[in-house]
Parts: sequence; C-alpha cells; structure tokens
Amino acid sequence: MNGSDTIRIAVQKSGRLSEKSLTLIQDCGIDYSADTRVLKAMADNFPMEFLFLRDDDVPEYVYDGIADIGIVGKNEVDEKGFSVEILRDLGFSRCRLSVAVPNTTVYAGIEDLQGRSIATSYPNILTSCLKEQNVDADIHVVSGSVEIAPTIGLADAIFDIVSTGSTLISNGLKEVDVLYHSSAVLICRKDLERLHPGKFRNVSRLLVRIDAVMRAKHYKYILFNLPEEHIEEVSRIIPGMKSPTVTPLYTKGWISVQTVVNEDVFWEVLEALKELGAQGILVTSIEKMTD
Ligand code: ATP
Ligand code: MG
Repeated sequence: MNGSDTIRIAVQKSGRLSEKSLTLIQDCGIDYSADTRVLKAMADNFPMEFLFLRDDDVPEYVYDGIADIGIVGKNEVDEKGFSVEILRDLGFSRCRLSVAVPNTTVYAGIEDLQGRSIATSYPNILTSCLKEQNVDADIHVVSGSVEIAPTIGLADAIFDIVSTGSTLISNGLKEVDVLYHSSAVLICRKDLERLHPGKFRNVSRLLVRIDAVMRAKHYKYILFNLPEEHIEEVSRIIPGMKSPTVTPLYTKGWISVQTVVNEDVFWEVLEALKELGAQGILVTSIEKMTD
C-alpha cells in the first residue's frame, strides 16, 4: 500500500462530538493510540491519520484538503459555507437551532420577528432560514453567551442551539420556533476521487464499515423456542424476515428460531412472540451487519 493513499480525518479535539466520533471509528475496527492532547495520530491497522481540531475548523480543513474527510455538526458545515461533500448523516450529537424570546414576549409566529433584532452565533443559517420565510430582521452576531442578549438589551430574540432547553429556562427565555435541525455528518473534500483515487478507495473502504456499524445499530438479533405450529404466524409478524433459521429441538413439536428484528418494531414483535407461546427469548445487539 502506498503511504500517500493514507487518508486524513479531522475530528473534534474535545467536545460534544469527540467521543462519539472516535467510538464510531473504533467500532469500524480501526485502532489508534488515543492521545487527544496531540494534534495528530496514526491509526494502527488502517491507512488513516487523525487530526484533532476545534469543530469550527473542520469544514475549512476539509475544504482546503488539509484533511480528506471530517466529522462535524451539520450546523458548522452550513454556517461556514465551505463547499464540501456530505457523505453520511451519522445520526449522533443531534440538536436544533431555535428562536427564543423572553417569557413575557407574545410570539404568534415567525412574522413577529419582522424588523426585530436577533442575537446569534449562526448568522448565515439564520439569514437563510429567515429569507425562506420572507422575514427581514436585524441580526447581531455574538460569539458566545447568546442567551443573555435579551436581558442586557442587546436583542429582542435569540437564535441558538437547543438540546434540552434548560439553559433557556434559566435565562427567562422560551423556545418559540425551531428553524433548523442538526446532527453529526461525515464530510469529504470535493473531487477527492479525481484528485486522489487511492485515498478515495480508502474512504470507500471506511464507508463500507461505517454503513455496517450504523445498520447494525438498528437491529437486534433474537433467538427463541417456539411451538412448531406457529412458525408461519411468526414469519408474518417479523417484517422482512425472509427465512428464519429453524432448528428442531429435542422436545417434539418445538423448534428454535433465530432472526434479526428492526429496533423500531422490536417491542411489538417481542409481545407478539410471547402471545404465540415463544419461550427462552434471547436478545443480543449486533456489532456489524452487511447486505
Ligand atoms: P470546540 O472547542 O471544538 O470549538 P464547541 O464548544 O464549539 O467546541 P461543542 O459544544 O462541543 O462545540 O459542540 C459541538 C457540536 O455538537 C455542535 O456544533 C452541535 O453540532 C452539536 N451539539 C449537540 N448538542 C449540542 C448542545 N446542546 N449544545 C451545543 N452543541 C451541541
Ligand atoms: Mg466550536
């Protein structure tokens, strides 16, 4: 393998994205000597190098090609506006960007923001959200402590990240409009395939692993004993179950069944199986799953 095919991934050095980003990489079977105090680290068993950065810098490093890929919140990608490819929505570090106003403010809808001042550290996302709604407001860019802006008379409203809403409440604010949803995404430098086919191949290898890990998270593996006469009904209950693995038990009329179940319907399936007389139901999570 050619050393220049080694891919560089930019991940957050320390913060809300760091641990989940590195766990995902580890779940992909990629080992590294983790020391996030250093800026760079090499993977031991995959042609990949880590760059540990502030999350704000990830889109630009990937755009510039300093890193080939990166893991960052979609909010940072859209706010910074660098043209990069979003390869996957990784689904973690979910949050929303919302408008909040003081508890005493009457708010009937987004049009109430017309001509008002709004403090935010996400001026570009806010501008494009307001434009979609034909609202013209006065945007004040602040880099932190956005939620105190109304109290100190800096703005009528704020637009900021909300996950539980407790920070808003403790500042006498109420969330009135959710304008944007974000989660961690895997981004890639534009044109990587043409510029570095070797690196692109390694990114594709990584994607196969990421897909297998993400897919597995949505399924459970179940194993249970069942009176033989109910196997047809069980096949109907478990969606997408093409042909379960069935083994006869020593006790006549009983079989052992193994299959995978989508997490969305897992509890319903479990209840239905019990009603059909299933016994000794074992459930395990799946580590990796491919087609
Ligand atoms: P850095 O020092 O790397 O610049 P930061 O303080 O800007 O870190 P974090 O607070 O670690 O960033 O958040 C990183 C990302 O996590 C956000 O951009 C957002 O996508 C996501 N996120 C999820 N929930 C929240 C939340 N409650 N508050 C802030 N960010 C959140
Ligand atoms: Mg940051």
